[in-house]
Amino acid sequence: MRDSRHDILFDPVPIGPVTAPNRFYQVPHCTGMGWRRPRSLAAMRGIKAEGGWGVVSTEYCSIHPTSDNDAHAYCALWDADDIRAHRLTTDAVHEHGALAAVELWAGGGMVVNLGTRLPPLGLRSLPQTDTGEVHPGQARAIDLSDIADLRRWHRDAALRAVEAGFDIVYVYATHGYLLSQFLDPANDRADAYGGRLENRVRIVRELLEDTRAAVAGRAAVACRFSVGLEDAETYDAFGLLADLPDLWDLTVPDYDLEMGNSRFVKENALSPSIARATAMTERPVVAVGRFTSPDTMAQVIRSGAQDLIGAARPSIADPFLPAKIREGRSEDIRECIGCNICYAHDSAGVPIRCTQNPTMGEEWRQGWHPERVAPASAPQRVLVVGSGPAGLEAARVLGEQGHDVLLAEAKRSPGGRVSAESALPGLSEWARVRDWRLSQIDRLANVQIFPESRIIAADIPALGVAHVLVATGSHWAGDGIGRHSAQGFTTDGSLHVTRVGTVLDGGSPGADHVLIYDDDHHYMGPVLALAMRRSGHAVTLVTPAGRACQWGSYTSEQFASNTALVSAGVTVLTNRVLHRIADGAAHLACLYGGEAIRLRCDAVLPVTRRIPDRALFDALAKTDHGLRSLTLIGDAEAPGLIAAAVYSGHRAARGLETLTDPYTPHARREHPV
Ligand code: ADP
Ligand code: SF4
Repeated sequence: MRDSRHDILFDPVPIGPVTAPNRFYQVPHCTGMGWRRPRSLAAMRGIKAEGGWGVVSTEYCSIHPTSDNDAHAYCALWDADDIRAHRLTTDAVHEHGALAAVELWAGGGMVVNLGTRLPPLGLRSLPQTDTGEVHPGQARAIDLSDIADLRRWHRDAALRAVEAGFDIVYVYATHGYLLSQFLDPANDRADAYGGRLENRVRIVRELLEDTRAAVAGRAAVACRFSVGLEDAETYDAFGLLADLPDLWDLTVPDYDLEMGNSRFVKENALSPSIARATAMTERPVVAVGRFTSPDTMAQVIRSGAQDLIGAARPSIADPFLPAKIREGRSEDIRECIGCNICYAHDSAGVPIRCTQNPTMGEEWRQGWHPERVAPASAPQRVLVVGSGPAGLEAARVLGEQGHDVLLAEAKRSPGGRVSAESALPGLSEWARVRDWRLSQIDRLANVQIFPESRIIAADIPALGVAHVLVATGSHWAGDGIGRHSAQGFTTDGSLHVTRVGTVLDGGSPGADHVLIYDDDHHYMGPVLALAMRRSGHAVTLVTPAGRACQWGSYTSEQFASNTALVSAGVTVLTNRVLHRIADGAAHLACLYGGEAIRLRCDAVLPVTRRIPDRALFDALAKTDHGLRSLTLIGDAEAPGLIAAAVYSGHRAARGLETLTDPYTPHARREHPV
């Protein structure tokens, strides 16, 4: 039964002419699917509505070919084909009684129109302002006739949005795109759209009025806007518009806070900034905060800080989060871990995937549902070896299918790499990957976990299993072989070389000054550097990349990660390759042929590659044990993201009865024609 303290989350909320059935609001979020994958989008958004989200929004939706973000996926409402494509989504959302919202978008000087090849229309003629990914070229500064065009394009797109069946139409005035460029104090245009604040908000006001006139009561008008306590003027701007839209979708100016990686930002981080604006308007306010706790959600609503619980990532990690709260099953919520792997894949221009929810992006192409798997036609006895993310997910799904599952783990505690990594600075939420799966397995009588059970090939016959899934993981190498070196470094033995595994197991490099050689470029190098500093070591982080945490530009953690390194007193050396340890020093070659550096230190900790632990699999593959299948999954197959390990376990379990050759085409592809 539902906890009565959470009842408030299920109040209907009037939004202008429409009513949200509850307070769960999936705000616009990128998906990497965009206009090229309408069926994938519709299936994914439809499942969110099925899972109880009262409002389900699109990602940014271009109003005109002058706003194009190729090679990143974005939606479009340019023509009749787009209307038909969006109908797939609005129908899927309406089928479950939810409202569908569309975020109309004008890119401005953030984009370079690589696809349409039209000059981008920026407020000023400046180089593209998206510093996350720079391209040569400048925008054309818009003039008054462009502004008139912009208003016409926006109005026409709003009309198409209504025709496509949307219930809420956005004016999108933040995130650095064109409308936020107008709002910026740097907007010194001499005409009616620049200079003093009343002029700078003019375009947003006009678009809100235009949109309201266009939708003519058939849809609500929302505005996505930023307010931040550290920037008083944002509230002055908000105050000038406060009661114009039917709904405010508020966020903060700092995207690294809004989209903060859990290494640095925890649940409900935006609330103080949002609450101040909410007090200034009569209109309902939605805001995000990576909310996964129903208690926090209810408290935020009760406090009056906002009216609706906005979510992007929590709705990706668990599309059924509202339904679980409604049914009094909060403990079943698959909580987002804040790793931003979803965002990283959108940034890479491909459909989003999720560490916690391996079905994300597979709803249409593989027909995967986040809450349901088909029961096994003939339940089998299955051994899963290794209880890291891959093994746990495989065992869970096999158990849900009705198989008789033995999950063997060599160590005393389950979790594999997520257990080890979650003890490192900032990574505590990684443990949710393990804990959610254990909690689900706990209620499956047909899944048994055997800790402290290292399996060897000779054990198999006695176990009487038909299938074996080997999820034995990987370990970090100590040789420096990696992206930038096929040979690794040479050593005369004068420096101690520590392995990542030693630190993960709670050991210490046993040295004062540790050189971390990071050719991995994700979080592990910087996180180990912070851990070493905490335990009193001097730390130098050396990387062949131009910046530490290079891949962190995709996960919105690069800036914060580097800030943390600097403030912890870690010395960072970039564009350097460790090629030799000799005479008690590390020899660091310059990537570009500059002078080598000889760095005195006491130990070297390479973070460059992992070695798959596949000895058990190889031994089993050599002999016929009468198994119906033997499958290598997770990091033991190919070391990678935790998301990839979870996905691998999920896929292997779903395919146990059907997947003979892992490389046969297994999924539908969207064809544009
Ligand atoms: P993945 O990310 O692929 O799930 P992990 O490295 O997180 O891999 O987990 C692998 C798990 O497998 C570890 O917990 C490890 O202790 C366990 N393991 C490795 N070899 C064996 C084995 N022979 N028998 C049982 N457990 C094993
Ligand atoms: Fe959350 Fe990570 Fe999933 Fe994104 S990928 S929704 S941050 S768990």
